[in-house]
Amino acid sequence: MKAQSLSQAEHLLQEHAFCDSCLGRLFRKEIKKGSNAEKGLFLRTQLHQKHKTFAKDCWLCEGLTDEIAHFAGIITKALEEYEFETFLIGSKIDEDIQEKEQHLWDQEKLQDAEPMKMEINREIGKILEPQLKKTVDIPNPDIMAVIDTAFDHVTLQIGSLFIYGRYKKYQRGIPQTKWPCQICQGKGCKRCNYTGKLYETTVEELVAKKALEMTQATDESFHGSGREDIDARMLGTGRPFILEVKNPKKRHIDLAVLETETNTTFKDIIEISQLRFSNREEIARIKAAEFQKTYRVTIEASEPLNKEKLIKVAQSLQGQLIKQLTPTRVAHRRAHKIRERRIYNCTIESVEGIIASLTLETESGTYIKEFVSGDDNKTQPNLSDLIGIPCKVKELDVIDVKGE
Ligand SMILES: [Zn+2]
Ligand SMILES: [Zn+2]
Repeated sequence: MKAQSLSQAEHLLQEHAFCDSCLGRLFRKEIKKGSNAEKGLFLRTQLHQKHKTFAKDCWLCEGLTDEIAHFAGIITKALEEYEFETFLIGSKIDEDIQEKEQHLWDQEKLQDAEPMKMEINREIGKILEPQLKKTVDIPNPDIMAVIDTAFDHVTLQIGSLFIYGRYKKYQRGIPQTKWPCQICQGKGCKRCNYTGKLYETTVEELVAKKALEMTQATDESFHGSGREDIDARMLGTGRPFILEVKNPKKRHIDLAVLETETNTTFKDIIEISQLRFSNREEIARIKAAEFQKTYRVTIEASEPLNKEKLIKVAQSLQGQLIKQLTPTRVAHRRAHKIRERRIYNCTIESVEGIIASLTLETESGTYIKEFVSGDDNKTQPNLSDLIGIPCKVKELDVIDVKGE
């Protein structure tokens, strides 16, 4: 090490009492090996200083570096009921100490010194890694524990758990996500029977119920790849979703059990499948993905339908591009614009009087009800116009979501 640094260390020790850690930390780049405490001891030996300063008498840390094992113990206790693989330690240090540290660096031009906070975080991590048999992960830990050193208080930031799957919805009238009562905004009022909800349940609630129980989590967020109308069923292979489970205590849950329990409990209402663990990045992917959809549509006409005519119209619709102006029913919350969507396939399944059933394969984002009714000519071409009889959707099911 440089003679200049050695004499600077000597000068500093004349000014203040430093524990080995604090001394070593100021010159950590000058000495290659060891912890800061070992570096401090090395410096002291070089300077023939026999007198050792205990942390409690240290001018800089005022005893903090002696408490690292103690902090590790408090954090261990706080983490006890959580399952995790990776963690990260953070700490809050007295502002007085931090100011003193900063002032000393400036005054002595110690550009290479390490902040005390960093040493405390790292040293706690070094104790906990072998003890808990977990790994420190800086960019993406399962749990971050922040210790407030002045109060011995730990705050935990628990990373969310992400579960991918596909859902089917067998009952009509269930919205995909939470829909607060519009009168009380979710607070609960007479109108919503003090539930705060406009609908009794949602796909989100049913999918999340068992997951929240099994993970002992506090909350969740549901991210669907698009959504079907409230009154449409979601059949076929189901719709992709990611359930974000917030503040989970358990992360190592058996997804096969979750699937079975959910499907048994909510039999004939919803069904989930293909569960696997996911991550935050995948949410953007499934949200942005444009999946081709297949619908089964039951239409009701104002007068009896002609099967041959219907089949002819259906054939003419293969690959047809349609233009849809924002539908009246969503106009209050969507921008007014014309969307072009393609009908890939239209097959007539059955015709009986004024009722017909057909299968429609369309581009993602096609408004089916409006394609059938025409929505006051806002959708063109439309089925009502093409067959020359006004008709509307009676029942709508999504029977396939392609593209995964
Ligand atoms: Zn110290
Ligand atoms: Zn209400």
